[in-house]
Amino acid sequence: MSHPLFDLDGRVGLVTGGNSGIGLGLARGLAKAGAKVAVWGRDAAKNEAAVKQLESLGAEAAAFACDVTSEAQVVAAVADTLARFGRIDACFANAGGGLASSFLKMSLEEWESVLRLNLNGTFLTFREVLKHMVERGGGGKLVATSSIGEICGMPRQEHYAATKAGLSSLVRSLAVEFARHDVQVNAILPGWIDTPATKPVQEWAALNEQILHRTPARRWGTPADLEGIAVYLASDASRFHTGDTIRIDGGYMIF
Ligand code: NAP
Repeated sequence: MSHPLFDLDGRVGLVTGGNSGIGLGLARGLAKAGAKVAVWGRDAAKNEAAVKQLESLGAEAAAFACDVTSEAQVVAAVADTLARFGRIDACFANAGGGLASSFLKMSLEEWESVLRLNLNGTFLTFREVLKHMVERGGGGKLVATSSIGEICGMPRQEHYAATKAGLSSLVRSLAVEFARHDVQVNAILPGWIDTPATKPVQEWAALNEQILHRTPARRWGTPADLEGIAVYLASDASRFHTGDTIRIDGGYMIF
C-alpha cells in the first residue's frame, strides 16, 4: 500500500514536453501514483505514443498539441486541459533545450531562440496555470526543469545555462509571491540523463567517459530516475517545501 502523503489519486498533473525523455519520466511517475496526466508537445505521433504508454499504466491521459513559445497556443492548451480534466493540480514546465554553438559565432537569433523556449515557455505556462490555481483556490504545485548546467560551466551552451539559472531564480520569486495561495514552486536540476536530446553526447566517447568518471553513481541517469521526485513534488508530502532547486544527478555536482 502506498503512503497516503504520496497518493495522487484524483489529482491532475500537466507535463510540458511530456512526450519524450525526462518529461515522459515525470509523467510516468505521476501516472503510477494515481494522477490523471496531460502532456503537451508539438509532435502528434510522439504525443499519441506517450498517451498510450501512460494509459497502459492504468492512468487517464491526454495529449495537447502546444508550442510553449507561442502565447496563443499556451493559453489555448491550458483551456483545453481544463476542459478535459476540470483542474490542474501540478504543472511541470519541462519543455526545453538548446543546441551547442560556438559563443563567438552565436547569433542573436540563436541566443534568443533558446531564451524563447526555456524562459518564455516556462513563463507563459506558469502564468496561465497560476491564473487557474489562484482562481480555483486550494493550492497547487509548479515545477520547472532546470539543469545542473545552471551551476557548472557549459561551454558552447552559454544561452542554455543562462536560461536554466533564470528558471531557478523564477521559482524562488514565484514561491514567495504565491505562498499565500498554498502553491509550492520548485525546480528539478537533472544531471546527465539518457534521452533523445543527449544521444550525441553519449556517442562522443571522450565526453561520455568524462561524465561517467565524474558521476559517483557511475552511470547515466534515466527518465525513470525522475519518477520519484515528480511524485514527491506533486504530492502533499512536499507541502512545506518551496523555492528549492533539487539535483537529481547521481552525485555529479559533489564530486
Ligand atoms: P527530449 O527527450 O528531447 O524532450 C524534449 C521535450 O520537449 C519533447 O517532449 C519535445 O516535444 C518538447 N519540446 C521541445 N520544444 C518544444 C516547444 N517549443 N513546445 C513544446 N514542447 C517542446 O529532451 P530531454 O533531455 O528529456 O529534456 C527535457 C528537459 O530536461 C529540457 O528542459 C532539458 O533542458 C532538461 N534537461 C535535460 C538533461 C538531460 O541530460 N537529458 C539534463 C538537464 C536538463 P515535441 O518535439 O513534440 O515538441
